[in-house]
Amino acid sequence: MAQTATHGHKRVDIRRNDTVRVITGRDKGKEGRVLRVFPNDGRVLVEHVGMVKKTMSSKRDPKVKGGIAEQESRISLSNVKLICPTCGPVRIGHETHGDRKVRVCRKCGTMLDK
Ligand SMILES: [Zn+2]
Repeated sequence: MAQTATHGHKRVDIRRNDTVRVITGRDKGKEGRVLRVFPNDGRVLVEHVGMVKKTMSSKRDPKVKGGIAEQESRISLSNVKLICPTCGPVRIGHETHGDRKVRVCRKCGTMLDK
């Protein structure tokens, strides 16, 4: 298979515990905390976003009642945006502060890293 090797890792600007807004798709407009980032897949798991019904088996775990439970599913990183406290969902820029690289709002320049 002829596959071009991509060198270096993809830069992902979204990190765990960020609050993001869903900008497209079924959950458009929802906001949530990032539970996990999957940089290689370009996907992200966001709290209460991309909920899917999952059948719980009572056979596997006797403590779990058989039935339907809801669970987050991974959504595309391109479907979410980091939220600037002033501007809302924005594109992320980068600035170097000393030897530290921080994320900033591309619109107003507010630092988005804690
Ligand atoms: Zn801003």
